[in-house]
Parts: sequence; C-alpha cells; structure tokens
Amino acid sequence: MASRTDTFDNLTSLNPAEMLEALQAHPFLSPYALALYCESRGLFCSSPSPSPLLGMSGQSVLCDELCRTSHENILAQAINRNEPMVYRCKTGLLNFIVPFKLSRSQTCCLLGGGVRDSQLNTPSIEVLAREKNLNGLSLIEELERLPTSTEEELRAIAEKTAAIIPALQSGNLYALAFERTMLRLNAIIGLVPELDRAASAEQVLHLVGEALAVLFDLSRAAVVLPTGADKRPMLCCLGQWLSEPAALNDEQLALLLRPAAARRYVLEDEDALKRLPGVKGERVFCQPLSAEGRFLGTLALFDVELAQRDLLLVELLASRAALRLLRLEKEREQALEAAIAAQIIEMIGDLSLLDRREALFARILDLSAELLRASKGSLMILDEDGEHLYIEASKGMNPELARSMKVRVGSGIAGRVVSSGHPLLVNDIEKDERVRSTNRPRFRTKSFISVPLKVRGEIFAVLNLSDKENQATFDEPDLRMLCSFAPHFSALIERTESLERAAALEELSVTDPLTGLYNRRFLERRLEEEISRSLRQELSLTLIMVDLDNFKHYNDLCGHLGGDKALKRTARLLRHSAREMDIVTRFGGEEFCILLPATSKKESLLVAERIRHAIEKEIFPREKDLPLGKLTASMGIASFPADGNTPRALVNAADMALYRAKSEGRNRTILYDLHDRLSKVSTA
Ligand code: GH3
Ligand code: MG
Ligand code: MG
Repeated sequence: MASRTDTFDNLTSLNPAEMLEALQAHPFLSPYALALYCESRGLFCSSPSPSPLLGMSGQSVLCDELCRTSHENILAQAINRNEPMVYRCKTGLLNFIVPFKLSRSQTCCLLGGGVRDSQLNTPSIEVLAREKNLNGLSLIEELERLPTSTEEELRAIAEKTAAIIPALQSGNLYALAFERTMLRLNAIIGLVPELDRAASAEQVLHLVGEALAVLFDLSRAAVVLPTGADKRPMLCCLGQWLSEPAALNDEQLALLLRPAAARRYVLEDEDALKRLPGVKGERVFCQPLSAEGRFLGTLALFDVELAQRDLLLVELLASRAALRLLRLEKEREQALEAAIAAQIIEMIGDLSLLDRREALFARILDLSAELLRASKGSLMILDEDGEHLYIEASKGMNPELARSMKVRVGSGIAGRVVSSGHPLLVNDIEKDERVRSTNRPRFRTKSFISVPLKVRGEIFAVLNLSDKENQATFDEPDLRMLCSFAPHFSALIERTESLERAAALEELSVTDPLTGLYNRRFLERRLEEEISRSLRQELSLTLIMVDLDNFKHYNDLCGHLGGDKALKRTARLLRHSAREMDIVTRFGGEEFCILLPATSKKESLLVAERIRHAIEKEIFPREKDLPLGKLTASMGIASFPADGNTPRALVNAADMALYRAKSEGRNRTILYDLHDRLSKVSTA
C-alpha cells in the first residue's frame, strides 16, 4: 500500500520523463545525449543516440558485457558517493553521471555522453572494431562527427547540472510542469470541437490516439470496444502498433472491461495481459469510457508511467471521446430506427392488403424474422378453451411437424408467455433461471424471443423467434422492436378476422339457404360486372333461365318438404352439369338462372341440354304422377350483347324464351330470337 509520503511525492514531484525533459531544455546540456536512470524503474532515455553505433553509456552497440558492467559499477559508485563523476568508456567516449534524489524515496542519475576527446585514440578504436566485427573506418568517421570536449569541461558541465537540479525540483520545475500541463489542457480543450464534429467512431479514436501520442508520447494506447455485427469487444489499437483489432479471451475481457469501475485503475503483472499482441502488458492503465451513465468500453494504456495531473488530462480526453462515441451510437440507432420504421410502414402497408388470415399470419412471421434476423420462428394461436397453443404459421421448420405441435399454457417458452402475460427474452435456454431446459437439437442457438399478441388486453397469440443469424443472441433492442410492433400485428389480425367475418356474412347474404346456391341479389350484381367485362373484352355472355315444370303439382303430390328436397336435388344437378366457370343461382321459387361467361348462345345450348337431360333422367319420388310422367325443366337462353345489353334486358329475353318453352309443351330449351322470333330448338 502506498504511504502518505509516496502519494505526496506522486502529486508534487515530476516523473522521470518530465525531469529528463526539463534538463534537456537547458542549452548547456543540449550537445549531449542524455538519459535518466532511476533505481526503482531503470533507464529512461529520450534524446536520440547520435549514431546507431555510438551513444551514451549502456546504449552503444559497442558496449559489451564487460563494458556494461563497468558502467553499472560507475553508476553505483556515483550513487554511493552522491556526487557527479566523469568517466571514459572503452571506445574512448566521455560520459558523465549526476546523481540526485527525484523524490524522497527515489534516487536517480542523469547520464550524459556522446562527446569525444579532441584526440581520437585510433589504434584502440581499430582493435575494438575488429573485436566487434565493425568497419573501423566508418566507426572513426562517426566518432569524428561527434562534438569534442575535455574531461575538465565535462566535469564542469556535470557540476553545473548538479547545481541546477534542486532548483528544477522546486518552484521552477513546478512552474515548468504547470506550464506544460496548461499547454496540454489547452490542446485537449482545443480538440473538443473536433471530437464533437467527428463523423464516426473511427474518427474519434483516431483523434484520441493522435492526442495521446503527441501530448503524452504514448505509443501503446488502445480501446476495448464492442465491434462488428455481433458487438464482441475487441482490442483496437490507437496508432500503428496493431494493424487489426485483436480478439480478447474472457479472462482478458474481465480485466479490461469493468462496467462497475467508476474511475481509472491500474493492472500490474497480470499474466493474462502479457500474452496480448504487440505489448508487454506489464503495467496497464485502464480508463473507463463512460458517458451519461452508460459504460461503453475502456481506454487502455500499456507500459506507461504518467504523472497524476496527466492522468486527469487523459481522463478528460477519455470522457469527451466517450460522450462523442455515445452520441454517434445514438445517432446511428436513431438512423437505424428511422430506416426500420420506414421499412415497417411499407411492410405494414403490404400487410393491410392481406385479407386472408393464413396469409397474414405467414407474412407477420416473415416480417418479424426479417427484422430480427431470425432464421426460425412460429406464430401460435391460443385455442378456444385457452388451454393450448397451436402453430398457425411457421418458418424454418417442417410444416407437418409444426401443424402437429401443441403447447400447453404454462409450459414451454410460449406457454409461459401466455401464463405470465409478458414477453420473454432468453439468452441461453440452458442457463436462464426462468426456463432452464436443454436446447433441442433442431435449434442451432440457445437464444429465443417470445412476445404475446393481445387484443383488448387478452392474449390470443404468441410470436416466437429463434436462431438469430450468425449464431448471435437476441438482445434488449430486439425485444423492444418486436414489442413495439406487436400491437400493430394484433390490430391487423383483428381487422382481418373482422373482414373475414364480414365476408362470411356477406356470403350468407348472397346465398340461398335452401340450396346453397347464390341468390338473385348475387346474380344481379354479377350480371352487371360480367356485362361490363364482356363489353371491355368484347366477349359474349349467355344466360340460361331454368324453371321446373308443373312444380306446383309436384308440391301437391309430395308436400312442401318433398318439394324442397326436389329443389335441393335439382340445385346439385345444376351445379354438377354446369361448367366450373359458370355461375349457378337460384332466381326464386323453382326457377334457376345460370350465367355463362365468355360463352356464345350456341355453346350454351350444349350446357343447357346437358342440364335438362340430367334433370329428366334423375329419379324423383312420385314424379310418375306428374302430367309429363317425370319431373322436368324448361329453359330459355339469351346472350349479350345480341339479345340484350343490360342485366334487365338480358333476363327478360331469357324469360321470354323460357315462356315460349313452357307454351310449347315444357321440358325443352328455347333460344331467344334476335328479331323477336322465338325459335324452338329442342323438345322432349
Ligand atoms: P309451370 O310448369 O308453368 O312452371 O308450372 P308450375 O306449377 O311450376 O308454376 P307455378 O309458378 O304455377 O308454381 C310454382 C310453384 O313452385 C309454386 C310453389 O308452391 C312452388 N314453390 C316455389 N318456391 C318453393 C319452395 O321454396 N319450396 C317448395 N316446396 N315449393 C316452392
Ligand atoms: Mg315458375
Ligand atoms: Mg314451374
């Protein structure tokens, strides 16, 4: 646990990187390659090495193990003596060491180098180059390019440095740090409008990455954010060190994503993070990305040391970035919702055109599955006694199997939805406390969604969806979307059912109850329609009027009920003897009318005669006692447009022909004659 002193030190002192930066700002130190060694943390080096071959102590490729050991010895000596030292390394380069206390508990040394004597010790350089297998000449050239200095001059520099350090650590240094913090703060504030204008999450992350790199020299920064269609959190690098977002395992996710963490936290020496690509992951600074109470992800800074005030600046940057990310997500959700709403309006428009219940059920299911990207689903209807659900429409399952399936209210997912009255979203059927059952093999995923459909508060159906595409699980937005459409679906189903009821009533009103044939009202309406269609399509249309002969007599023989039976039987004969396309109606009493679309008078004669023969051949009870010895019918035929071009004219013409059939002795068919000459066509 950190002591109070440490905490104070952290707050008030500069960190090694800041100290090094402050020292480098002094012109008298600028010719030297500088590094800072801290006892507890190792070497910090910010100034570039003057050459890949050379450099200051501990960094030169020329340094071998022996040389490094001698550097370390001198470092230890300097710390021990607590005074500046100048020394020469094996290459002949001059170095200096200035020990000082960075904080109460931390001893550091400034290491300076990269200068040479005015005289190069060429033979020893050549020996060294040979030992190291380097080109001696180019090594000498490199060395010659270095600034020169004498040991005395370097000692003076080291002493001067030792003299200014305490001043840097007090007010001056704070002033410097304050100034730099203000600069960084201003830079972040300046970045805010740009962040707020960012048009995509990628742009936001790019800006954050840039700010972290420029302002804090952070090169290993990343975010852990949900990405892709399945919203799986990935490690996305802010910068160049990872080309692709990296997948994280559960252990890593648990460490890096802590929705409950109110503020930043540091992870140290977590084995799970050491295997991340491109980073050491020994020390990870995690800044939650939260806005408006919503946790979006984590900003992770790997292997860095930051002063307390810089942590606050990073937090500020992170909070502004999170706010923009949240806004972008909301904008995206709104755009998506608007697009879906437009799609839905169009689809509901389509749905309202469906006037058959089965077609509507199937379409509602398809539509819901399409919206939630589900590959399986069913629409179940509650039976009359309210105890079982039956599948009325199914998707992605065998229709025969679906038809035979029955779910008891209270059991299974859909049954529970009916008994509870609430929708159900299940992520994992095997783990969900509410259902907990083994996943059936016909389902590929363990996630389900089930929503009740209600009319006037009463559940009458349940809509079930399963097997979301790409093995994904259904989520809250899916449930919200389905629930928002459920009332529309219910209203459409109710409307279709009332339309069907109206159609059934309508059917009743145009049907003759005794024979089941269409009645005269229907005939009149159809006649209008058929005449105008025939006119448009220039087709003929024929009407056959049928009247049973001596039916009054038959009634007298068999009684009214016997007469009714004969009428029913005649209706059946008419229906069977007419063609599929012909419209058979009961005109009234014992009179029938058959409408033959697209049929000439001549063609209709065949139909009429077939019917007449059928009646004649049919054996009716007691028909022998009729005047003709059997129950027969007379027929009159008239055609559009020749014999009449209105419904009334056509019916009159057929009636006149029928009258003629009667007057000529009955049981015959007469064609209406255009010139009012009624021609006898057939007789018994
Ligand atoms: P015609 O050969 O000239 O057509 O003689 P008809 O006796 O058939 O003609 P009429 O118009 O004089 O009598 C029709 C009879 O049909 C009168 C009525 O009793 C009978 N009838 C009409 N509607 C029904 C019905 O719904 N049921 C029964 N059983 N008889 C009916
Ligand atoms: Mg009659
Ligand atoms: Mg009659």
